[in-house]
Amino acid sequence: MKGHLLCPACGTLYPQKEAAWQCSCGSYLDLAYTFTPRPEDFSGPQGFLRYCSVLPLEHPDKAFTFNEGFTPLHLTELLGQKVLVKMDFLLTTGSFKDRGAFVLINKCRELGIRHFVEDSSGNAASSMAAYAAPVGLEAHIYMQAGISSAKTMQASAYGARLYKIPGSREDCARAAEEAAKSSYYAAHTRNPYFLHGTKTVIYEMMEQLGWEVPSALFIPVGCGSQLLGIWLGLQEMKRAGLIDRYPRLMAIQSEHCSPLKDHLEGRDTPHLPKDPILAEGIAIRRPPRLKQILQAVQETGGRTLVVPDNHIMEALKAAAAKGLYIEPTSAAAVAALKQYKAPNVRLSVVVLTGHGLKSKV
Ligand SMILES: *Cc1c(COP(=O)(O)O)cnc(C)c1O
Ligand SMILES: [Zn+2]
Repeated sequence: MKGHLLCPACGTLYPQKEAAWQCSCGSYLDLAYTFTPRPEDFSGPQGFLRYCSVLPLEHPDKAFTFNEGFTPLHLTELLGQKVLVKMDFLLTTGSFKDRGAFVLINKCRELGIRHFVEDSSGNAASSMAAYAAPVGLEAHIYMQAGISSAKTMQASAYGARLYKIPGSREDCARAAEEAAKSSYYAAHTRNPYFLHGTKTVIYEMMEQLGWEVPSALFIPVGCGSQLLGIWLGLQEMKRAGLIDRYPRLMAIQSEHCSPLKDHLEGRDTPHLPKDPILAEGIAIRRPPRLKQILQAVQETGGRTLVVPDNHIMEALKAAAAKGLYIEPTSAAAVAALKQYKAPNVRLSVVVLTGHGLKSKV
């Protein structure tokens, strides 16, 4: 139903203007309607707003934008395989999360929201803070105490207020939820508007490929915002007849935190080690949308792959040797090429999600 959010768990509908961020049953919410993409509508300049006909914004003409988007799709060879890389680390703040922040922040403005809570010590914090700053939205960012990095400094530089919460990541999420009782919880881990923003990456990619479906997409997965955005876009394209099959969605996780594989094997995911881990951006023990992620992987014939740190380091070096300076989280997706060789000559695409300048490795 247009103008509504829908709870996939219990079916409750919420008018979008009420700005609910979760269902009263505790589940995340999705849009209660779908979009029908038509290539003739993709005629504007090459930026995120080119796809405004499939974005949940009422007034795209009033949206704040850096005129960003259309990151290069570049053919290279990594770890012995020819691959295309989607260079999303070149977005404004240095990660793909700008795509989600673009839609979510503009939606907040449409809903009259003046301040929001987010829970991240990484790229999501930077992206949300960067898009909030020029439009005068207050960003309240919750993160685990003890984490200080280029990413937290970046979020702070944009003017976000940082709250350092002692304890685990789960403790931090709880503190954020508490604070959100008097604010809006703009959580990239579950917010549907964020996913419709990350969706722009697959629209760009398919236009860049002349609508030819690649054989596989390699995507580093934490809470799945990128994978699920891609999945939303692919379903829209297939329903509209723009593509007739799906690329395999390969969900890549690190050996230190692999809830997708654990779930499939009926195991609880162990707590993270105390020391910082290499692929920090995908270390999310309990992704709220885990079942949706697994469904996307299964329906596209994809796989969940777990990569060890030594392969991530090797992938990081291999990428840099081709002029691609990315962060370790991003290199996890490259590392998966060692485990999975595309079965035929059709190309694989690796999404390079974050910039190397953000990490100390
Ligand atoms: C957040 C992040 C990911 C994982 O994205 P999810 O939406 O959490 O699945 C991958 N790479 C980088 C660089 C990130 O910042
Ligand atoms: Zn519900």
